[in-house]
Amino acid sequence: MRYVSTRGAAPVLEFEDVVLAGLARDGGLYVPEEWPQFSADQLRAMRGLPYADIAFQIMQPFVDGAIDGAALKTLIDESYDSFSHDAVAPLRQLDDNLFLVELFHGPTLAFKDFALQVLGRLFDYILARRGERITIVGATSGDTGSAAIEACRGREAIEVFILHPKGRVSDIQRCQMTTVSEENIHNIAIDGTFDDCQDLVKEMFNDEEFRSQQNLSAVNSINWARIMAQVVYYVSSGLSLGAPDRSIAYAVPTGNFGDIFAGYVASRIGLPIERLIIGTNTNDILTRFMETGTMDAKEVVPSLSPAMDIQVSSNFERLLFDLYGRNGRVISQAMTAFRESGTMTVTGDVLDKARELFFAARLDDAGIKAQIAATYENSGMIVDPHTATGLYAATVCSPDPSVPVVALSTAHPAKFPDAVEAAIGVRPSLPTNLADLLERPERLDTLPNDLATVQTFVSDRANNT
Ligand SMILES: *Cc1c(COP(=O)(O)O)cnc(C)c1O
Repeated sequence: MRYVSTRGAAPVLEFEDVVLAGLARDGGLYVPEEWPQFSADQLRAMRGLPYADIAFQIMQPFVDGAIDGAALKTLIDESYDSFSHDAVAPLRQLDDNLFLVELFHGPTLAFKDFALQVLGRLFDYILARRGERITIVGATSGDTGSAAIEACRGREAIEVFILHPKGRVSDIQRCQMTTVSEENIHNIAIDGTFDDCQDLVKEMFNDEEFRSQQNLSAVNSINWARIMAQVVYYVSSGLSLGAPDRSIAYAVPTGNFGDIFAGYVASRIGLPIERLIIGTNTNDILTRFMETGTMDAKEVVPSLSPAMDIQVSSNFERLLFDLYGRNGRVISQAMTAFRESGTMTVTGDVLDKARELFFAARLDDAGIKAQIAATYENSGMIVDPHTATGLYAATVCSPDPSVPVVALSTAHPAKFPDAVEAAIGVRPSLPTNLADLLERPERLDTLPNDLATVQTFVSDRANNT
């Protein structure tokens, strides 16, 4: 499988190079040159298989040739062995035709483990074969950092530096990162905001000399391998509910558009998807886009669902690329104009095409608490604030009652105990294997919001191990 950039001007790459590159050199994102196809018969034959077996079959055509079948199978098996639930992504019924797929049984209790457990092992495999080392630098507002650290801890050829804003992530999120003791993991608390952290990371990537000296790689959702791994739970949950012999709808709490884009990929490769429902919080740029056809970036407002506090959803560019007939030049111009002006309007036919599959709804903090309470009252189930936005969107944008709706439950409620307690008066507890998390010894360094200081810190440690 070959991969092309959404901006049309970067070299066409094979899977291995796409995994290591992250962002394309023309500023675009890599997507497969064409979508592999699964027939209804092929999909039916996967029904009832263990999650890891479905994952292997779905990922194989995307990896095609880069990694031999047996090694890929082992890598996938190991990734999902680290999950605490045998079904990996269990499905729960909430209502006649409303289901939750629980994506929080991985080691860091959010859906990001599904992709990062695979990505960490892919890095390892590719680097061992090439005899190379990489340095990962990433910024996190919470969930990505811990999932990346967990996936890369102790891996020989990878040095990991995760920047988080000092005092601005929750205790649980911080401890999930800072209590990891392996030498290749470095937590940096920056005296600043999440945006400061993200800017520092961007500047490190834009410093060509530093980037090549350190062999920098990215773990955020611009990395294609993350999207690829997330396609699987759309397929597995769809098969459980009767696909491909009936269509399924999915509701997805959305920030960077990575997760829901994986749903779009599932539909492109043959899973019959009736609709994809975008749930946004007060940071509702995607909902406003679906209403008006204009992308209009505003200031990010902190909410009860912090992983969705995003204005510019990077992965939306991957959808636009398809909507514009895969014309890289058009996308390149549109994205450049958007970066300069903070606004972009698509043509009527493009908006119509998007609306054939995508629906969207927004929910503010009061609504999030009300939804958590309503779900608890109706089903006894405690959901996290992100999942609540998806559930709400599922009810507002619900399809014909004959179509089952699967709402993605993206985080364990115990990751956001304050919001949950405020909604229902019950404080959800961590799973037993993490019960002592807040008492474990922490390891982190605090640095000022200063590029040179951070770069020196990284190069000193990356070269010494
Ligand atoms: C990252 C995250 C999201 C948003 O996913 P995107 O792929 O960025 O759209 C939603 N919920 C939780 C709990 C997350 O950690």
